[in-house]
Amino acid sequence: MHELSLCDDLMRQVTALAAEHRARRVASITLRMGPLSGVEPDLLRNAFEISRAGSVAETAELLIEPQPVRVRCRRCGAESEASVNNLLCRACGAFETALISGDELILARVELLNEE
Ligand SMILES: [Zn+2]
Repeated sequence: MHELSLCDDLMRQVTALAAEHRARRVASITLRMGPLSGVEPDLLRNAFEISRAGSVAETAELLIEPQPVRVRCRRCGAESEASVNNLLCRACGAFETALISGDELILARVELLNEE
């Protein structure tokens, strides 16, 4: 499962960060996720439940911040909101657009706790 290997990577980053800051627990993990990232949030949450077991993030909350799909037009240069099924420029209707956000999966924030 794609989401499980993603979570393993995520947990490696989070445990390294916790060790670096000598944190005892991880309170929350925030991810920025675009609808074109190819990741199902529900599957990711399930995978997270498995990955975090026995780790410093065992009781951490997983927060997902959905990101908008945005494109930049190669014809008129406008940046506009788009949707998963419609990446056309909203300004001139051209289909020659480049994705500027919407496919990301980023570890945005990790909240660490130092008390027991
Ligand atoms: Zn345009």
